Amino acid sequence: MNISETNCSSCGACANVCRKDAITMQLDANGFYRPVVDSEKCVQCGMCEKNCPWINAVKNPNTSRDVPWTIAAYVKDESIRMESSSGGIFSILAEKFLDEGGVVVGVAQLSSIEFGHIIVENKADLAKLRGSKYVQADVGTIYKKVHSLLNAGQKVLFSGTPCQVAALYAVLGRNAASVDLTTIDLVCHGTPSVKVFEKYVAEIEKGKSVQVLSTRFRDKRKGWRLFSMTSLLKKKSGDYFEISETLHKNKFMRVFLQNICLNTSCSDCKYGKLPRVADVTLGDYWNIAQAHPKIDNDSGISVVLLNTEHGKALFDTVIDDVVFCESAVDKAIARNRCIVSSYKPHPKRSEFFAHLDEYTIDELIKKYCPYPSFGNNLYNRVRGILGRVKRMIVG
Ligand SMILES: Cc1cc2nc3c(=O)[nH]c(=O)nc-3n(C[C@H](O)[C@H](O)[C@H](O)COP(=O)(O)OP(=O)(O)OC[C@H]3O[C@@H](n4cnc5c(N)ncnc54)[C@H](O)[C@@H]3O)c2cc1C
Repeated sequence: MNISETNCSSCGACANVCRKDAITMQLDANGFYRPVVDSEKCVQCGMCEKNCPWINAVKNPNTSRDVPWTIAAYVKDESIRMESSSGGIFSILAEKFLDEGGVVVGVAQLSSIEFGHIIVENKADLAKLRGSKYVQADVGTIYKKVHSLLNAGQKVLFSGTPCQVAALYAVLGRNAASVDLTTIDLVCHGTPSVKVFEKYVAEIEKGKSVQVLSTRFRDKRKGWRLFSMTSLLKKKSGDYFEISETLHKNKFMRVFLQNICLNTSCSDCKYGKLPRVADVTLGDYWNIAQAHPKIDNDSGISVVLLNTEHGKALFDTVIDDVVFCESAVDKAIARNRCIVSSYKPHPKRSEFFAHLDEYTIDELIKKYCPYPSFGNNLYNRVRGILGRVKRMIVG
């Protein structure tokens, strides 16, 4: 198999499609999942490259709309909404799917530093999938498992990043068009390295006799816009406590939001654009105050793109459980470019990773993505406000 790091989204389609189980996804030196081929098992059949969604473009098998129905929405159940990253639309779609006898596939936190796809069969376990985990997930053999479930006549709602949804369709091949399968992709600006997150957790624990148990990457108790990252810790005495920092203060959020610790291929994502690869796309409706001020509030609003009839049919089942208004994709894109395009690669990404083992996260931030000075901060804020005013006047 000949796939360079820059062209590998870590989606794991190759490992799932290999009939000889010759490929496993293993973390590379920078903490991203990469295919590793066991040459003794490999029979050079070429299935891995033929089914790589980076080499061969994958399309949603259901008829896609050129312009998706675009909705701004949040779930009426306030507790679900507060536990979710945006408007909680994932959870309500998933609940309805479970009610109708389906199963839901998504990403859960598996240990203090590991994240991966699991299959959920009941509402209690849905909490494991709720909330964004800003770390690359281990897909394992999830696409094969979905294949088996569909073959057994099971309805499946699969959720993941756009590259993971593309990988699922690639692995399913002709079965991708199954009426029993509905897919959700996230608006995604990239997946951070597992190694960077592991380092962040190790630095919290270092010399303090505490253990980090779990992390909420989008804790909205102080607000959706100014969200916090919160870790649950356990002391040696057995007592539990939390540490919580807003996105501007938290070190992991700093490196994540500066796009310096993401998978290389994320800056050239083949699936983070229109037409979107999944039936439904979910993200944050950051532009809500300008686009639909009547439903704006700081508990989280989702942008929902219904890309296919299949996706629209799923959303129609939840309209009594959500507050929503019809929108337009251009309005949502105005402050969420990742709906249609990738971010620019950080110019110091290679240096950051070259020194990952040597420096602390604080030192890496100081060297490669320093916090802006007060003057710069003010300048950027004024520029941002002027830009928004200009866009409002022009458009
Ligand atoms: C790595 C990443 C980057 C993102 N970047 C953006 C962005 O730039 N702009 C934007 O508008 N939205 C982004 N999102 C999406 C956003 O954070 C919310 O997940 C989305 O709006 C759905 O919110 P919700 O309230 O409906 O449901 P939530 O309950 O918050 O979302 C849960 C869903 O996220 C999935 N999920 C969680 N972690 C992962 C993971 N590591 N890999 C794959 N799937 C995962 C779960 O399987 C579940 O389907 C990103 C999400 C992730 C995971």
